[in-house]
Amino acid sequence: MELGLKHRTALVCAASAGLGYACATALAREGVAVTITGRDAVRLEDAASRLRALGAEVHTAPGDITTETGRAAALAMCPAPDILINNAGGPPPGDFRDFSEADWLAALNANLLTPIAMIRAVLDSMIAKKFGRIVNITSASVKSPIAALPLSNTARTGLTGFSGGLSREVARHNVTINNLLPGPFATDRQTQIAQAEAQRSGITLDAALAARAVGNPAQRYGQPEEFGAACAFLCSAQAGYIVGQNILLDGGAFNSTM
Ligand code: NAP
Repeated sequence: MELGLKHRTALVCAASAGLGYACATALAREGVAVTITGRDAVRLEDAASRLRALGAEVHTAPGDITTETGRAAALAMCPAPDILINNAGGPPPGDFRDFSEADWLAALNANLLTPIAMIRAVLDSMIAKKFGRIVNITSASVKSPIAALPLSNTARTGLTGFSGGLSREVARHNVTINNLLPGPFATDRQTQIAQAEAQRSGITLDAALAARAVGNPAQRYGQPEEFGAACAFLCSAQAGYIVGQNILLDGGAFNSTM
């Protein structure tokens, strides 16, 4: 399917690896000029080289997207994108009793206030152009809270509520806001979690990864490319009537009839 994205521009936050990189790759393959961000400038440039090898126009904006400086750098490189993919690292796990106010504020800043700030910065130019696609990478924990991730559960549901309301206000301008909810995807983050589990249980990394996959109906991790493809479709010309949705990509792990 031709997605109608050639010559569009995208700002993909936190995209030197993992799901953000997968979204940038899928968009680049569709002829989108992408700006990617990440804190480690070397890793970011390496990712950009791989995207350029696909024939894409690629710009980089090194920096921490959860800071004003990082956001300013991203927006200076790509001030009026047609497509915004909001992403940042997830908060640490733990017992809610152990988190300080600073921990809560950091999670709210990274996974709620940062995406809102980015949307605020680009929304009016999208409205003026009568085209905009905003995708927030959130988490399956929005639908099915994960007890060990109270910071994530809380911040991401806040963003879900915000997006749900705003998306209905801007849909008439052909600007859509949707959320993609990853279940377990094979990224560095999942490997780190499995590595910690392997050490705790005295098993190999492969065994820990297999144990985490086996409970999923698909009996495997999602591949980042599958996530990127869903993201590219949500950004397509054809997806203008998909508004304010929360799309779960979890291999069927969330068990419900509808
Ligand atoms: P990942 O493999 O750890 O990749 C994270 C990417 O984001 C890297 O490029 C990293 O580069 C960049 N990054 C992290 N924090 C950043 C920041 N503050 N500013 C700029 N760039 C930043 O993570 P992932 O698995 O792709 O996950 C992406 C998001 O989805 C996270 O919020 C995660 O919690 C959520 N999620 C993931 C899964 C999963 O199964 N993978 C499941 C549910 C939710 P630098 O380190 O160089 O900055």
